[in-house]
Amino acid sequence: MKINNMSGLTLGVDIGGTNTVFGVVDAEGNILARGAIRTTGHASFTEFISVLHTHVLHTLTDAGIDYGAIGAIGAGAPCLSPESGMIEGAVNLPWPSPLPLTAELERVFGIPAAGENDANVAALGEKCYGVARDLDNFIMLTLGTGVGSAIFCDGRLLHGRKGLAGELGHTHIRRGEGARQCGCGERGCLDAYASARGLVMTARELMMSSELPSVLRDNADLGAADIGEAAATGDPLAQEALRITGKLLGEACADFAAFSSPEAFVFFGGVANAFPLFNDVMTDEFNRRCLSIYRDKVRFIHSALPEADAALLGTAALGRMIMGEPAGVKLEICTGDPEGVIEAMRGGADRVELCSGLAEGGLTPSAAVIRFAARQLPVNVLIRPRAGDFVYTPAELDVMEDDVRMAVEAGANGIVTGVLTPDGNVDMEACRRLLQHAVSMDNTFHRAFDMTIDPFKALEDIISLGFKRILTSGQQASAVEGADLISELKKRAAGRIIIMAGAGVNPDNAAALLSASHADELHASARSIRRPSIVRAGNATMGSSEVADGSRAATDAAVVAAIKKAITR
Ligand SMILES: [Zn+2]
Repeated sequence: MKINNMSGLTLGVDIGGTNTVFGVVDAEGNILARGAIRTTGHASFTEFISVLHTHVLHTLTDAGIDYGAIGAIGAGAPCLSPESGMIEGAVNLPWPSPLPLTAELERVFGIPAAGENDANVAALGEKCYGVARDLDNFIMLTLGTGVGSAIFCDGRLLHGRKGLAGELGHTHIRRGEGARQCGCGERGCLDAYASARGLVMTARELMMSSELPSVLRDNADLGAADIGEAAATGDPLAQEALRITGKLLGEACADFAAFSSPEAFVFFGGVANAFPLFNDVMTDEFNRRCLSIYRDKVRFIHSALPEADAALLGTAALGRMIMGEPAGVKLEICTGDPEGVIEAMRGGADRVELCSGLAEGGLTPSAAVIRFAARQLPVNVLIRPRAGDFVYTPAELDVMEDDVRMAVEAGANGIVTGVLTPDGNVDMEACRRLLQHAVSMDNTFHRAFDMTIDPFKALEDIISLGFKRILTSGQQASAVEGADLISELKKRAAGRIIIMAGAGVNPDNAAALLSASHADELHASARSIRRPSIVRAGNATMGSSEVADGSRAATDAAVVAAIKKAITR
């Protein structure tokens, strides 16, 4: 992950439960224009993005900034997956999940967009514009309402599965019966001690257990800021509360250092405003507890970013990272064997749909090949027990359910499936049965969609089931022929689900297909004919699908790369 130094502006958008703030930021971190809208009160998520767009345009006009000068958008929101750009399960936002945030921003603004969750945004701001500018290895701890964290290692922000890496606030700093209850349901998390709430509780405990004099004893509505202020004026109890907090943080950081060998810890947030008052005890405790190789080698730094601007600078930094990069129409490659997975990856595929028996239209692959593929890139696994129609018997559904569990265990990023009723509708009950084992995953309803009698009803059914994506050829033999229907589906989906076009996609038609269908993503098998690698003795053939001389169609990195190039703006 490289910070882009090119000149040009980025738009930072920070979506909170009540307000959404945005700002236009230059390469040096100057906020040239800013504005805000209410997050609540819009008829739909789509309307919210459109209102945001209007406000941004007005703000730019007022500030005399040319729209064309903005190279990218960075967005921060709770529960935002950096990989999919989807907001999932954010309880503080007024719309039901999932919300395709970056896809919708790109569609409405016509500019590449990227997203991150709140804690990661803070770290990106420090890396691009703040005290971590020259650091490739640091851990950011945000001590606010809760304890958030983000980890930069080898110059990269760590994401992990679903972008959740770095939940250090919920590692255990104390264990057993006496450990404090944390909001997450566990006991003894760092969050329960070093958050604003944790600091207040420490002060209250000291009021009960000690005779230390304090102005805080008379404060019924005690907040973390009160404790910081009192400590700064020499209040013994407030100072002791911060000393205890610093000691715990030092102890926790000694463990964290062993995990990613940081050059520094960077502190941000309300409690961190008292940094000068707990830094010494924290550093001492760290050096006493850490592995000797880290002793006196790790710095503790207080963020210098103004608290009010940090979210904007962080999201703008995120935009800066993707600036100049091609906008993302994702390419999924359908393949069935280990070699194909490697070819797909080498060609720049964003994801594979993994199946066996491609010649039969694809069948459920083995656990071993899923495990292999999942180590290379995101893998969505086809769940289809046999060729033919998509109406399944109870026994087949039992096996499919078991296959979903197997695929998830083997490391699938999502499943790809589809079940229909004999009258050509989506079999809601059967789909629910399968999805219950892959909740909130990146699931696709496959081309069974193209066999439904009413595609618009099917679209609504599939959205209500919680699928993230539909793979369709627009109910035609190829996606090029079905482009009109795909375009109509995309319009009606209005960002609620990803529309992925597939069937007959090749390097020559991919770009035209995209502009005709407005599909969000493309799906292709990207194969070329491979000659047999052994000398053949007899005339035996191994199956109807094989080309007569033993050649076979195999995924080809060059074809993958050619499609990717064709669809990159
Ligand atoms: Zn917790």
